[in-house]
Amino acid sequence: MSTATAEAVNLPIVATDEEVEIRAAVRGICESVGGPEYHRRIVEAGESPRELWDALADKGYLGVNLPERYGGGGLGMHALQAVGEEISAAGCSLLLIVVSPAIVGSILTRHGTEAQRERWLPEIAAGTTRVAFAITEPDAGTNSHNLATAATRDGDVYRLRGTKTFISGVEDAQAILVIARKRSDDGSLGFPLLMLVDTDSPGLEKQFIPVSVKASDKQWTLFFDDVEVPADRVIGGSETAGLKAAFDGLNPERIMGAAVANGVGRRALRLAADYANERKVWNGAPIGSHQGLSHPLAQAKIELELARLMTQKAAALYDAGAPAGEPANMAKYAAAEASIRCVDQAIQTHGGNGFALEYGLTDMYWGARLTRTAPVSREMILNYVAEHSLGLPRSY
Ligand SMILES: Cc1cc2nc3c(=O)[nH]c(=O)nc-3n(C[C@H](O)[C@H](O)[C@H](O)COP(=O)(O)OP(=O)(O)OC[C@H]3O[C@@H](n4cnc5c(N)ncnc54)[C@H](O)[C@@H]3O)c2cc1C
Repeated sequence: MSTATAEAVNLPIVATDEEVEIRAAVRGICESVGGPEYHRRIVEAGESPRELWDALADKGYLGVNLPERYGGGGLGMHALQAVGEEISAAGCSLLLIVVSPAIVGSILTRHGTEAQRERWLPEIAAGTTRVAFAITEPDAGTNSHNLATAATRDGDVYRLRGTKTFISGVEDAQAILVIARKRSDDGSLGFPLLMLVDTDSPGLEKQFIPVSVKASDKQWTLFFDDVEVPADRVIGGSETAGLKAAFDGLNPERIMGAAVANGVGRRALRLAADYANERKVWNGAPIGSHQGLSHPLAQAKIELELARLMTQKAAALYDAGAPAGEPANMAKYAAAEASIRCVDQAIQTHGGNGFALEYGLTDMYWGARLTRTAPVSREMILNYVAEHSLGLPRSY
């Protein structure tokens, strides 16, 4: 990993030929499986998005961010966020791309032992191994200091007990990167431990959570009842590496959350503009000629482009090893708000049709709305910016 100050990083504002090619190819792959119709069909049928995942993985797009020496594309988060944005802009969704190559792949790259990198990264880059990510607990979502899932050392293994909730994509994952806390001999809970747990481990049960979001990956509550985890599954091979690793994984997560939101916003504006150009209700003029409709769309477009720029800045800083917490948080905030505005205005532009399921806009609304809450909530980003960017005191 290189390290750089923010000032020394060149921000790639203009897309390189390589990025343009990646974006076009990802769009093409999404279209080849059926685009929004494919997405709707598998969500309604409760099927997994494996066809799309495998098609993207086959061409190397799911590992574009990971180092070349472990089978990745070596192009960093800048390229992966472009892939994530194009998938959403094409009307598809793959929540596991936010998790497996972005969070887990990035954590392993920066904090895994060499043996862990060699074991996991090539398969994550190839998309043949999918790893979910579990931090949220029923009593510890926003406040991760309350994490109660405990790992107790027992010879060569840890025994994991606790509950995680709202964990995406477990149905299609071979492993889960779990953030637990080490339980000491006196029973107290210490620093976080990040451990890779097989999804078929004895003692691990999962319960489906029905949600409004039309994502192809499902959400689960996970119950760990004395699940045995070999000690070599602890990231970094040490009980003190977890805290930094966990924090480091948050930036790729936020960058990808922003990218997904940006893609949804782009698609909503494209649908809205097409409809506003065609639909005529007064004197043969398209409704898009009325400024009451065109100005909110223009405003949403400006906010979306600003969010995309901040997303690219966050990715460039992260890739350079420079501090990326502030831009990653700001990007996720801006992208979520812009995306919600884009979808809401697209619904308004479509009049009654905005609510007809065939137009797919209300489905998109839940996707955009999710990004205001997850992977980190709007309020926690505002707390971060108030405290870290403005130097204001904490209220909690
Ligand atoms: C579809 C979906 C997929 C998800 N996928 C995953 C996943 O794969 N892995 C995973 O680990 N988690 C996942 N999550 C969980 C998600 O990250 C959490 O729901 C989110 O972080 C909020 O945590 P919480 O639900 O516990 O909310 P809470 O912590 O209960 O917060 C409730 C509300 O209070 C606000 N709040 C709390 N504290 C403060 C404060 N100090 N100041 C101001 N406001 C505050 C919050 O912003 C929020 O609006 C997913 C959630 C959903 C809905």
